[in-house]
Amino acid sequence: MDYLPLHFNLKDQTVLVVGGGDVAYRKVELLVAAQANVRIVAKEVSDRLQELITGRGQLIIASYEQEHLSDVVLAVAATSDDAVNRQVSSDAHAASIPVNVVDKPELCSVIFPAIVDRSPVIMSVGTGGATPVLARYLKSLLDQAIPEGISRLATYLKSKRGDLKTKYPDSNRRRHVIETFLSSPGKEFAINSRPDEADAYLDHPEIEVVQGEVYLVGAGPGDPDLLTLRAVQLMQSADVILYDNLVSDLVLQRARRDAYKEFVGKRSGYKSTAQEDINAMLVRLAKEGKRVLRLKGGDPFIFGRGGEEIEALIAEKIPFQVIPGISAANGCAAYAGIPLTHRDYSQSVRFVTGHPKDGVVSLAWEDLVSPNQTIVFYMGLGGLASICDQLINHGMLPAMPIAVVSKGTTPDQKVIRGNIETICDQLAGMKLETPTLIIVGEVAGLPEGEISTEN
Ligand code: SAH
Repeated sequence: MDYLPLHFNLKDQTVLVVGGGDVAYRKVELLVAAQANVRIVAKEVSDRLQELITGRGQLIIASYEQEHLSDVVLAVAATSDDAVNRQVSSDAHAASIPVNVVDKPELCSVIFPAIVDRSPVIMSVGTGGATPVLARYLKSLLDQAIPEGISRLATYLKSKRGDLKTKYPDSNRRRHVIETFLSSPGKEFAINSRPDEADAYLDHPEIEVVQGEVYLVGAGPGDPDLLTLRAVQLMQSADVILYDNLVSDLVLQRARRDAYKEFVGKRSGYKSTAQEDINAMLVRLAKEGKRVLRLKGGDPFIFGRGGEEIEALIAEKIPFQVIPGISAANGCAAYAGIPLTHRDYSQSVRFVTGHPKDGVVSLAWEDLVSPNQTIVFYMGLGGLASICDQLINHGMLPAMPIAVVSKGTTPDQKVIRGNIETICDQLAGMKLETPTLIIVGEVAGLPEGEISTEN
């Protein structure tokens, strides 16, 4: 190991920064965040650096001199003058003061790592000065994987430190209690700023059969890159994943490899699992202490029966979280280039189910057929003829544009555009694959590639 990472408490300590440009600015920003007292020495200083330092340190407009190192605990050379940078480095080395010369690892005794700041948790990545680009890349991976709430969890545990020490003087026992807590729903309560509920778990580690929990997670419309960071974080920590047929294989691949995965959707040729059975399964698995992730296409609360599932969980007092997903309407519209609202053509958007009963779709048509409104039909392909008839019968112009999006956001996405009078003929003989989403309104007829983003 060429470098030992240490987290340096710089609060009210003097740090010298030589240089007054953008490079110096970035270092001063970090030092100010760490509450250091920054001494800037430069012949010229940019306006924004001057603004940043006002009230937080000292500005010396001069050439660098050795005396500027007096009383400093760290020196940073960030000038464009190589000779000055070398001088700062050699003076600091001679005085045993840690020194960093930006982009010159050979002149440094300390290196600034790339950091992920979830204070009080700080994660740092260094490559020994080999390549800061790689360090920043790794930092971005950490950024996505570590929930923002980890800072709340750390703050919560910090607030309990004294109590825990008194209650469990034996450090092994204490460690065990905290480990048990971290694998209980209490951890998620702390992350979600619900300390009272978290306390219940921290205070009772002796209860061995810890209750599990349920995450109701939206998987988005298909493209795995449309998963939220939170969805991926939970998919990486769940024990069991119950997924629908709308959840694509590519999405499932983002889950923890050894999580137990079970298909509970409807698929032709397979027996589908009834909603009551799914509810019962969620309750049973959570009671066994499992972290159960219920993965649903799109958003769990938009035609996703998420409401029924949480009712069952509430009735059984099972802790749960709901993580929103990008709904098919948002995903398909974006990938098909159809703005759902538009300043000139559509001031409202309606999401409705177009699921037919005995071939007929019954909806409040008078209400739907109104000018300047986009209507998005979920589950509407089977009832398309009925939908178009009803719209026309209730006064919509037969030339009203319509778009049918099949397998939206996936590599197999197809978008068929037409009008509500002729779309059914257009689709006849075409084998459109499900799922399909139907968008009706002026916005579906906007020329492709000429979308105004000012909506
Ligand atoms: N909760 C889901 C909707 C479930 S209802 C969501 O928020 O998106 C199922 C209907 O969603 C399908 O019949 C279809 O109309 C629509 N749908 C879901 N994914 C889709 C996709 N990738 N492309 C087109 N339509 C989709």
